Amino acid sequence: MAGPRPVVLSGPSGAGKSTLLKKLMKDYEGVFGFSVSHTTRNPRPGEEDGKDYHFTTREKMQEGIDNGDFIENAQFSGNMYGTCKSAIEDVQAQNLICILDVDIQGVKNIKQTDLNPYYISIQPPSIEILEKRLRDRQTETEQSIQDRLAAARADTELSKEPGLFDMVIVNDDLEEAYSKLKSVLMEEIQKVQDSKK
Ligand code: ADP
Ligand code: 5GP
Repeated sequence: MAGPRPVVLSGPSGAGKSTLLKKLMKDYEGVFGFSVSHTTRNPRPGEEDGKDYHFTTREKMQEGIDNGDFIENAQFSGNMYGTCKSAIEDVQAQNLICILDVDIQGVKNIKQTDLNPYYISIQPPSIEILEKRLRDRQTETEQSIQDRLAAARADTELSKEPGLFDMVIVNDDLEEAYSKLKSVLMEEIQKVQDSKK
């Protein structure tokens, strides 16, 4: 479906993707829409079904994948995650910039589709700082922290592949990272704002 170019945000769990995208959606209301993924992991305190994720079971998710409902799916830290086609279509039907938050496998799989998004990687300043952020967030078990740190090391290496991302933003100072993210998206933001005038 035609519309503004979607944005794929990727990068290690705990790098700050949700923090940045929530800020963006608050500052530019009526410009962005979030592609709500499906996951088999349990909700964290404060997470809402249908808003942060569609929380589901392995059986139901596998059924949807088998039906061809998903544009991509991946295993992460022992759980299934995936983007169903309707999650993107719902946002695009409203002429909003669709934001997807996916891991590096999702990036590679989306590259095989005709979605044609901007690919932006959000990286932590270091693994040590990432570990501190994950611990301070107080949402993960020790096992989940260890899985996320292992995945983060792989992600940071893979994200260096030339041409994989349009931009890599190191989220050290939040305001600085946010202003870089805004500046790369400004042309697309303006287009959506102009179309609503
Ligand atoms: P992700 O969505 O990538 O998993 P989050 O947005 O949940 O990551 O961020 C992980 C934790 O780090 C959160 O508790 C968040 O408040 C914090 N955080 C995010 N960006 C920064 C930053 N620039 N400096 C310090 N803490 C941050
Ligand atoms: P979390 O459990 O911290 O919310 O997410 C764990 C990882 O899964 C993050 O790297 C996040 O970007 C990724 N993720 C979330 N939704 C999807 C999705 O629909 N597809 C893929 N491939 N990864 C996802």
